[in-house]
Amino acid sequence: VEEGVSSVYAAPGQKGSVATYRPRYGHYIGGEFVEPVKGGYFEDITPVTGKPFTEVGRGTAEDIDRAVEAAWKAFASWRHTSPAERSVILNRIADRIEQNLEMIAVAETWENGKPVRETLAADIPLAVDHFRYFAGVLRAQEGGISQLDENTVAYHFHEPLGVVGQIIPWNFPILMAVWKLAPALAAGNCVVLKPAEQTPASILLLFDLIGDLLPAGVVNIVNGFGIEAGAPLASHPRIRKVAFTGETTTGRLIMQYASQNLIPVTLELGGKSPNIFFEDVAAAQDPFYEKAKEGFAMFALNQGEVCTCPSRALIQRSIYDSFLADGLDRVGRIRQGNPLDPETTIGAQASNDQLEKILSYIRIGRDEGATVLTGGERVDLGGDLSEGYYVAPTVFEGDNSMRIFQEEIFGPVVSVTSFATYDDAIATANDTLYGLGAGVWSRSADLCYRAGRAIEAGRVWTNTYHQYPAHAAFGGYKQSGIGRENHLRMLDHYQQTKNLLVSYAEGPMGFF
Ligand code: NAD
Repeated sequence: VEEGVSSVYAAPGQKGSVATYRPRYGHYIGGEFVEPVKGGYFEDITPVTGKPFTEVGRGTAEDIDRAVEAAWKAFASWRHTSPAERSVILNRIADRIEQNLEMIAVAETWENGKPVRETLAADIPLAVDHFRYFAGVLRAQEGGISQLDENTVAYHFHEPLGVVGQIIPWNFPILMAVWKLAPALAAGNCVVLKPAEQTPASILLLFDLIGDLLPAGVVNIVNGFGIEAGAPLASHPRIRKVAFTGETTTGRLIMQYASQNLIPVTLELGGKSPNIFFEDVAAAQDPFYEKAKEGFAMFALNQGEVCTCPSRALIQRSIYDSFLADGLDRVGRIRQGNPLDPETTIGAQASNDQLEKILSYIRIGRDEGATVLTGGERVDLGGDLSEGYYVAPTVFEGDNSMRIFQEEIFGPVVSVTSFATYDDAIATANDTLYGLGAGVWSRSADLCYRAGRAIEAGRVWTNTYHQYPAHAAFGGYKQSGIGRENHLRMLDHYQQTKNLLVSYAEGPMGFF
């Protein structure tokens, strides 16, 4: 916290800040920062003020080649590390991140625009916990022995895939990297990771901090744009898997690239998650009702830049007017401001492109006849922040056929509609191409259970929303993705099974 400005963290690089970025970053390959082969750099802009703050290497296929080579070289010995050895390393990484939590949180906030209270309380502690979780479960993983007959045994071993490619988005830069790195490393793989071009620097800052804890080349980071660096990685003939998080349209391309080399993919894609409020939530003005109102406002968390953003609120008709009024009151209490201020609860959108996309969807919503109940505009916070990318939390009222109910906006925008019966609620919830997240709110455990099972989504929060613990499986139904992240079953996505089928019989087999 800067002297004299007791309530706001100083921006990285300013006097009194806990975080400092290098003025320029190359790629992180073979355990060191290296210049891009073709020498290009691009600016990294903070959404807090709309100004550039560092430069990052602009990767090309040549950099990807170099990183894949470094990763295979490292794999020759990394593959032989024991689970206990890898577990120790992952725990050390977790400890190092935890010791520097405030610094990383401020750096991430500066690059992404999300409130520091979130990076301090959620993003970075969750990253720590993901490393610890995989450090633990990897040691509990069992192979398997099947006794086929008295003299024949099938042994099953977990083996790493080799070098894997990982491509991530900008909405949780460090956490998305860690969701991919922790299980891949636990499983014994080496990695080439491409951060999003909007937010590469906080991951590079992280590797400045933890790089020495891993053997050189086990993790390599190549920065750059999708077509220039992402496509050469996903289609590289020497990677054994590609893990991707991003837009559904990009996910389709990733599958095409991977099909050239016939390698597995995991895809975490977009969403249009329903948040269903059944009438019994309003049975009493008690703490449960307060929680439900907060659940309604959850669309604004992380500026709505969450793949599981509860961007469609479905409210039962009998409580529609009163619950919506209370929900709007709760939205009105969201504090928009400088993301470095710990009191701020909604910060800046991550990029100018994203800001423009959200504003264009707000126009689309108005044009198709939806009503803006609150928000609906860019916010000028004045002073240094006036060029920052701030959008007011926005509530639309309309119906589920509208584009603002069907297409992912990825901003602090919720589209609200009503339903009459349980069957209507489920039909509307499932009337979408996506199936990532959902919320169900009711005092009836029976109703919650039935609704939770009936909604076609990989994660259904019940009387809560937006929790991402390491030990709960996460992923999409329908066009929201393929495969799961988190949870020990994630290790299956980063390993292959070796079966040794052994005969201990002394006599002939008897075929020939
Ligand atoms: P995006 O698909 O544009 O970009 C994601 C990453 O893919 C970036 O690193 C980008 O450089 C790279 N990329 C782009 N084109 C590529 C190509 N042709 N080949 C290879 N790589 C390419 O998505 P975005 O706008 O950065 O992220 C927002 C999206 O991510 C949203 O749709 C959101 O729902 C989704 N998301 C999903 C999850 C999840 O777990 N399901 C989590 C976070 C975000």
